[in-house]
Amino acid sequence: MTAVKELLRDKRDGAALADDDLRAIAAGIADGTMTDAQVGAWAMAVFFLGLDARELPTFTLAMRDSGRVMAWDDVDRPILDKHSTGGVGDKVSLILGPLIAACGGAVPMISGRGLGHTGGTLDKLEAIPGYNATPDAELMGRVVREVGCVIGGQTDDLAPADRRLYAVRDATGSVEAIPLIVSSILSKKLAAGLEGLVLDVKHGGGAFMPELAEARALARALVDVAVAAGLPTVALLTDMDRVLGRTAGNAVEVRESIEVLTDPAGADPRLVEVTLELTRTVLDLGGLGDADPRAALESGAAAEVFARMVAALGGPGDLLERPDAHLPAAPVVRPVAPLRDGVVVAHGTRAIGVEVMRLGGNRAAETDVIDHSVGFSAIAAIGEEVGVGGRPLCVIHARDAASADAAEAAIRELIVVGDAAPADVPVVAEVVR
Ligand code: URA
Repeated sequence: MTAVKELLRDKRDGAALADDDLRAIAAGIADGTMTDAQVGAWAMAVFFLGLDARELPTFTLAMRDSGRVMAWDDVDRPILDKHSTGGVGDKVSLILGPLIAACGGAVPMISGRGLGHTGGTLDKLEAIPGYNATPDAELMGRVVREVGCVIGGQTDDLAPADRRLYAVRDATGSVEAIPLIVSSILSKKLAAGLEGLVLDVKHGGGAFMPELAEARALARALVDVAVAAGLPTVALLTDMDRVLGRTAGNAVEVRESIEVLTDPAGADPRLVEVTLELTRTVLDLGGLGDADPRAALESGAAAEVFARMVAALGGPGDLLERPDAHLPAAPVVRPVAPLRDGVVVAHGTRAIGVEVMRLGGNRAAETDVIDHSVGFSAIAAIGEEVGVGGRPLCVIHARDAASADAAEAAIRELIVVGDAAPADVPVVAEVVR
């Protein structure tokens, strides 16, 4: 087989690599026989030169095969999941996972931590005392089989090539390239042994890809590679120009998710709509198109699955009945009045995510420890009336008065008040099949 050094030269010069060579690279990344310098050179070469329509699925499958692939032969439900490209206030996974299970699917959801200004599902779940957000393979398998849904982190043996390549990309400025993002995301989803996947590809000010055209290109590549790898997949392009739901933070988002599950009629309609659309799409892929996710939400069936999952993973058995008894509360809780009466016309969504980080609710550096209690709740939606003596812009949850003061000043800039509500923007912009 050709030495890695030669393969790197070939790639550098624009050649398409043979399938065996791509497999050798994925194996060399995972087993450490490629040096950090070689992995960095690979990442940068792919960043600039890309992978063609044959190379990308081959490399993605090779990344999947660098570790264990979960097997669900004994499970008689379709194995389904969702992946989101991330946003601010995006707690969809906490509601959708149990909802799919309540509709007859099985969900081994591998989730990530906060990245940049976006929140991470694992960080949110770790706000629940006792919840084991990184279950091992045995526990994960047991909970999926018993409850129908588990949301946990990537274990060491799942797509280890991605784990190393991702860290090297992060250190070498080569994260934002479609072939690298696609192979990274899909290698983990394929390792989970899925039979259907829905992608929530976000665009707008709070998304990693603000432009719709960029989000569409990423969605197209993800769907094409997933399908080429044998995984039925559909992507929804959804709006992230405004905070999704009414909260941004960790415990506050778990609290809102519990409220959606237990009282969907009182929930933010956009959050409910996007969750139901994603759920319907993936149920359809799994042959469960006759299931009624709205009924499963309204009947409390999804809430029951969530409660059982939390308990099975070590969390409190009565979290849904008594969330305030368990979720961490910040010492300073303060409503922010607007400077004038009016309606909310815009959210500075990305910057609101950064404010969550400044409050301590997300990491500025990899080693930072998150304060799960902080964030924002009761965030006024676009089009909602706010007033100096009336409805506040939001409620700040802070660890001390100084950080609440800083967040208050920022929020008055970031939740913009005007005279008239802007035209409504649909939460689901397009479907990519
Ligand atoms: N999430 C991933 O898992 N990988 C990427 O490259 C980007 C987002």
